[in-house]
Formats: sequence, structure tokens, C-alpha cells
Amino acid sequence: MRICWYDQQQLGVVDDGKVYDVSAALDALPAARYPAAPGDLLISHLDGLRAAIARHLPHASSKPVAQARFLSPVANPGKIIGVPVNYMDHVVEAEADRATFTDRYKGGVTEQGFFLKAASSLVGPAEGVALRFPERLSHHEMELGIVIGRKVANVSEAQALSCIAGYAIALDMTVRGPEDRSLRKSLDSYAVLGPWLVTADAIADPQALGMRLYVNGELRQETNTAAMIIGIAEQIAWVSRFYTLYPGDIIMSGTCAGVGPVVPGDTMHCEIDGVAAMDVAVRLAGG
Ligand code: MN
Repeated sequence: MRICWYDQQQLGVVDDGKVYDVSAALDALPAARYPAAPGDLLISHLDGLRAAIARHLPHASSKPVAQARFLSPVANPGKIIGVPVNYMDHVVEAEADRATFTDRYKGGVTEQGFFLKAASSLVGPAEGVALRFPERLSHHEMELGIVIGRKVANVSEAQALSCIAGYAIALDMTVRGPEDRSLRKSLDSYAVLGPWLVTADAIADPQALGMRLYVNGELRQETNTAAMIIGIAEQIAWVSRFYTLYPGDIIMSGTCAGVGPVVPGDTMHCEIDGVAAMDVAVRLAGG
């Protein structure tokens, strides 16, 4: 199933080139109470919600996917986790330009550890990326986005994939420079997720997905998730030894070679086989 938030925060299911409005299924969610349990409410109850969605789908109104404005398929993540230098060809390009890739000297992916991006940086593709420092380099990093589906800590690698709700295209946008990653990668709109969540049951092998990123039609990044240095199950097992993962937490699982700058007016086109394709516009913040 492909689940999305679109237009005026409607809940949608994407099928056959159309998005179906299944917002009525949200009535099946428990009423919000304060203080809420950690985790995104919809992702926390996704399994139960699927029955309600199936009931509403046959009589839902629809529109072509091309006419929908897609928001992030996770509305309220507790945290966005980044996996650094997780493709060997990106290690090579970072090693070759340490002036730009300032964190690279800290070692390999498990030596450096994962980093966090502010949850407030998250947007959907329709919202676009807004550059605040156009005089500095802002790079695109195309990544497979992994959305956690249930609370988990100290999970084994063997069990790790079973706690995934689904997958989406992720952009880990980055200002290059000397500051900590958590600052440079947390600007508003510097985490893009979308255009929809493909539930885990619909992806036979998440370690065999081809993906590409184009800027203004020019191919910049191309890889396959088979080329990850540490795979998805190991990522979840490794990081869950440090902290608990909650429903709606997002892992951006690393980028391949070809990262490069974007400027206002650019359009990034990203595609992951079996997941989706999406366009993301770049503009000047405030513009
Ligand atoms: Mn990244």
C-alpha cells in the first residue's frame, strides 16, 4: 500500500496513477490525549488503520497523482536519524575533498556513529527546499528513507526489518562547512521525505533498489541499495543499542557519490525503483 498526506493534509492512498482521499479513515485513530505517547499517531496505528482505509477506498474520491501536492508521509517524527558515508563511492569522493566534506576524517560509518537532524527540518516534496545561505554550498544527498513502525530497543539484526513500517524517498540536504552536522543538516526544509510511504510488505528486498537523482534533467547520483556499507537491518540493530526507536522515526540510510550543489530555481528529480519518483524545487528562503 502507498500512503500519503497531500493537499490540505488529506490522507491518501496511491494506486494506478491516482490518489484516493481516505481521510475518513482517520476517525479510526484514537482521540489524542495529553501527554501523548512518543511516536507519530498515524504510523503507530497503521496496522489497525489499514482495515478502515480498505473500507473507505471503494467509494473514495480521487485525482491524478500529477495534480496532488504531496506532504511528508510522516507528519510528526520523533527523530530523523542520518547514516553518514554509507556508500563506498561517496567515501572516495569525500576523502578526495576534505575541505568540503569536513566530517570525513572521523572515520567509517560505525566509528563516526549516526547523527540526528531536527524533526522541524522535515517537509514533503511539494513544499520544496528553501536555501537560507545562498553564498554557501548546499548539497543534495539522495537516500532511501526508512520509517520505523513500532517501538524497539536493542533489537537483533534478525528482527530489525520486522519493525519497519515502510519506505520513501529521502533527501538529506546539507550545508557544507565546519559546524556540527546537526546544525548544517537541520535547516527548515533540509529533510525531504516523500512522495508517499510504501508499506514494508510491498517491498520484496529493500537492499536491491536502484535509485537516481537528477538536477534540471542532469543525472547526478545513481546507485543501488545493495551497495550500502552497513545494510538496513544492521543500521536499525546498531542504533537501537543507543536509543529507543519509536513509530514514525525516520532513518536516512546514506548517500552515494555525486552529491553536489543546488541553487534557487533548480529542480531535483529523485526516483527509487519500486518506491516512487518525485520532483523537489529549490528556492531562496523567504522568496
Ligand atoms: Mn546523508
